Amino acid sequence: MAGKKRGTWGIRFLIHLFTVALGVLFFWLEGFLLEDIQSIPGPLFEEVRVKYVDPALDAKADRVAKQIAALDREIAGKREEQHLLDESTKNFQSTINQLVDLQRQSIEKAVALSESEKETISTSLKRYLENQKNYQELIKNITDLAGRKRLLDEEKRTLDRQIDEQMTLARWEYERVCESQRMKLALYQLAILAPLLLVAGYLLLNRRGSMYYPLFLAFGGATILQAALVVHEYFPSRYTKYALIAVLLGVVARILIHFIKIVAAPKLDWLLRQYREAYERFLCPLCEYPIRTGPRKFLYWTRRTVNKILPQADCTGKNEPYHCPSCGTTLFEPCPACKEVRHSLLEHCEHCGAKKDVR
Ligand SMILES: [Zn+2]
Ligand SMILES: [Zn+2]
Repeated sequence: MAGKKRGTWGIRFLIHLFTVALGVLFFWLEGFLLEDIQSIPGPLFEEVRVKYVDPALDAKADRVAKQIAALDREIAGKREEQHLLDESTKNFQSTINQLVDLQRQSIEKAVALSESEKETISTSLKRYLENQKNYQELIKNITDLAGRKRLLDEEKRTLDRQIDEQMTLARWEYERVCESQRMKLALYQLAILAPLLLVAGYLLLNRRGSMYYPLFLAFGGATILQAALVVHEYFPSRYTKYALIAVLLGVVARILIHFIKIVAAPKLDWLLRQYREAYERFLCPLCEYPIRTGPRKFLYWTRRTVNKILPQADCTGKNEPYHCPSCGTTLFEPCPACKEVRHSLLEHCEHCGAKKDVR
């Protein structure tokens, strides 16, 4: 087994840095995709309103509002007229007062008024009375208009109330439509993310030994984060909390199973290391019973004393197949390639290097 190539500190730092950068880029890319989905336009309130609010009612309310506005304008015009009439009446009043003074003086002085002066007085009086008459008429007009306006106001209020009732239904319906649109967008986004998540999950779980694992880690991390954000945004926490707990359960169970497997069936390189160390000490890799073959045939040693007990005899003993007398495991056997005797529990033959699957 070749040791893992780890690289220098600088290279490892750069790999971590670029893994993070790649993760950010993946996150952005997926974010842009999701944003584009989010920008699909939703329903318009006007479209929903049309279905719920009677158009005849709308038209009527509109007409009444226009009539009210016209009446308002008319009343304002009349009031302006009234104001002007008021002014001119005041003028006539002062003219008449002056003339009356003039007349009184003439009577006191017993001087008759001229014809033109008499005529002025009579026309002024006539105009004044006419003004008064107009004024009364104006007031009556304005009162009439105000009465009509009151009636229209009342009608408008009734119409508004009816429209408002229908609008309430429209608003409920609009909320419902908006919510279903939101759910639809969420499903679209998850539909985009689901295959990415599957690929990411597969790569993260099954390519752990790969040289390119940092790439998969960046991609997987970004995808999982995006999916979590979408779920968090669209689904109320009531559901999210169950989804979250399910995911956590899955992850914790997976880790637990991983450790249980390591204990129950150690990984090959751990196993090989254990075998190698046992062979070095001439102990059975499985039960630690001494391997008494060749010159060590009559010696006694343990894991601690193996280096102090050295065989005295020469080392020309012929290698022979050997089984552990304690547990029966085959420890040395003929190599199928070169027919020499080789270690049964190590990967390569010491004579020809042929590889064997040790499991
Ligand atoms: Zn044994
Ligand atoms: Zn061999």
